[in-house]
Amino acid sequence: MELTRREFLKLCSASAVGVGLSQIADPRLVAAMEEAAATKPPVIWLQGANCTGCAVSLLNTAHPTIAEVLLKIISLEYNPTVMAASGELAFSHMEMIAERAKGKYFLLVEGAIPTKDNGIYCTIGEKDGKEATILSVLNDIGPKAAAIIAVGDCAAFGGIPAAKPNPTGCKPVSEIVSAFPNKVPLINIQGCPPHPDWLLGTIVHVLLYGLPELDDKARPKLFFGETVHQNCPNYSYFQEEKWAKKFGDKGCLIKLGCKGPMSYSDCPNRKWNSGVNWCIGVNSPCIGCSSDQFPDGMMPFYTALSKDKWPKKDSEIV
Ligand code: SF4
Ligand code: SF4
Repeated sequence: MELTRREFLKLCSASAVGVGLSQIADPRLVAAMEEAAATKPPVIWLQGANCTGCAVSLLNTAHPTIAEVLLKIISLEYNPTVMAASGELAFSHMEMIAERAKGKYFLLVEGAIPTKDNGIYCTIGEKDGKEATILSVLNDIGPKAAAIIAVGDCAAFGGIPAAKPNPTGCKPVSEIVSAFPNKVPLINIQGCPPHPDWLLGTIVHVLLYGLPELDDKARPKLFFGETVHQNCPNYSYFQEEKWAKKFGDKGCLIKLGCKGPMSYSDCPNRKWNSGVNWCIGVNSPCIGCSSDQFPDGMMPFYTALSKDKWPKKDSEIV
């Protein structure tokens, strides 16, 4: 089964061709993923301080189905939301995989990492009669991973758990990883939650071609290379200064608080719920959930950005 890089990018890149992984049901993609993952790389998925929305988003993936992903593409060894085992059995299995597959497994981390008071505010197991926190487990098994994928805003940039006043001292995964004794590749998949295609597409890219091209915030450019504003169907309204003044009006939503100019994602082309619709498609302003500054930098949600943050109109670009 051959799937060239060009074909893969065509399949994944909504901004280029207007379709997404979840919209195409392309059997070649699943077959290529299976072939690339002949050894079914072990995946450990930890959950820190978060709402579990990222896992739920992935479980909603339609093509390939989540069953195909979990049974044929990867070997998901630990995920608190979907695994049947629990307690000591599950925790010791996770530790065993981290030791046995040292340097070969992928570590997915969902949620921010509470660090105040030695991370006691997010305990995910028990080790030697003491609480095992997400902080201590990440420090234990993170350095042995082949790569770490921070799934969602909370893991990638702190997100809601790290919003002011951040009483538990939540930090993004990158801050913990940067203090590891060895260098472990890190990919940030932003979004609150992330689109299932962004995570699956990244996993597929890693399996088929290695690490995708990342921007200066370790985000795959494939999905986060352009702002929502750049591909928005209301872009011409913005150019013509035709503003929606109340919800339901036609026009650019910037005066109703749209944060599309600050949000890097391909939502306008990929859309959500298997391509059914998306925020601005139902006349709701983008609240900037796909951003390293979410949520503090995007609030108040339904208040217009200050003018200094507005993008330039085409006529103003020299
Ligand atoms: S400000 Fe929002 S609604 Fe207006 S063009 Fe940009 S992304 Fe679209
Ligand atoms: S359009 Fe904006 S608020 Fe909606 S999912 Fe995309 S980045 Fe998030």
